[in-house]
Amino acid sequence: MSTFDVQAIRAQFPILSREVNGKPLAYFDSAASAHKPQAVIDAQSRYLAHTHSNIHRGVHALAQEATEAYEAARETVRAHIGASSTKEILFVGGTTDGINLVAQTWGRTRLGAGDCIVLTRMEHHSNIVPWQMLALEQGFDILVVELNEDGTLDGEMFEAHLARNPKLVAFTHVSNALGTVNDVKHWTSRAHDAGATVLVDGAQSVPHLPVNVRDLGVDFYMFSGHKTYGPTGIGILYGKEALLDAMPPYRGGGEMIGTVSFEKGTTYNELPYKFEAGTPHISGGIALGAALDWMNGVGMPALTAHEHELTQHAHAQLEGIEGLRFYGTAPCKAGVVSFLVDGVHPYDLGTLLDQLGIAVRTGHHCTEPLMDKLGIPGTVRASFGAYNTVEEIDRLAEAVERAVSMLR
Ligand code: PLP
Repeated sequence: MSTFDVQAIRAQFPILSREVNGKPLAYFDSAASAHKPQAVIDAQSRYLAHTHSNIHRGVHALAQEATEAYEAARETVRAHIGASSTKEILFVGGTTDGINLVAQTWGRTRLGAGDCIVLTRMEHHSNIVPWQMLALEQGFDILVVELNEDGTLDGEMFEAHLARNPKLVAFTHVSNALGTVNDVKHWTSRAHDAGATVLVDGAQSVPHLPVNVRDLGVDFYMFSGHKTYGPTGIGILYGKEALLDAMPPYRGGGEMIGTVSFEKGTTYNELPYKFEAGTPHISGGIALGAALDWMNGVGMPALTAHEHELTQHAHAQLEGIEGLRFYGTAPCKAGVVSFLVDGVHPYDLGTLLDQLGIAVRTGHHCTEPLMDKLGIPGTVRASFGAYNTVEEIDRLAEAVERAVSMLR
């Protein structure tokens, strides 16, 4: 057992003191969205109550304070993921928004007929559909890296696709459906050797692992605030400065401009503002900074170790249940345990668990191509956050056993 004080952590999350269906809440759905510690709730409400003003444009005191707080949050993000400069940190709506931005700017100007890009079987729809939409218009091919039995990437197939010199390799750091942690550094380096640009979806890694974009070597990396103990509607797109500089803007409007003239046309603002048209989610950005501060206060290595222990414990407790099969048994996993039980529909199991106050997610987890390949409609997924305990997992295992005996 690590020295991680999970009870002290839990006490910081007001929602954990509520009951669901008359039972204490056991929340195993952090991969979909994590709860918020009081420090994050306070940062957002303090901003709204005391500081709010539109940013960047005003000379008055509130406008300056709001701008300083928002830009300080950008610096917190930069430091947290090890980017070289805040010019490389774009506030976006979330992971999905970040990927769409790259597809519509970098992708639209770089990908055409005769080109190919590489995705993997474990991608979330967010890292599939924007590329399919663009491929329909621009006529490039999408190559898919399939998976091994344990839910790791098929390395030989990855190499074979790289041999076709793809323009882009886009893959997830951690699978939201299987929990597999991919070797981002290795595959980024291999993709660069093949001349590809590399985009990595960090939606499920930044909440669980220390991430350093410079060490990983990635070109684009994105994550969502609401999965990192922060608010919804805000997220981050990291891009290497030279790439962002060369990309056309995504959306036009206020803030992203240098000058606007009917006669001479429009010039664009410098990075990162060139990609931040319109009034942003100011309180969300500030609260996201507070969320990353909170995670650093806990300590990323301790948080990773705690969740590793939870994942191991969940596997050990659930594997004895007759007919239970895990999906995703990679040696390196983060925060997710996905399973099915013979003869039991995942929705029925999820509904019975909910009656016992236990929140799990059931379904395809926005990874339909993966579920199709596995030949299943979906899984039951328990995903973990800083606030989950070993005792809660014991409760989950007992409840699954009880529910299964009722449903069979
Ligand atoms: N990528 C992965 C791996 C995810 O797990 C998710 C959300 O579950 C997303 C992308 C999309 O994130 P968002 O809905 O916050 O944009």
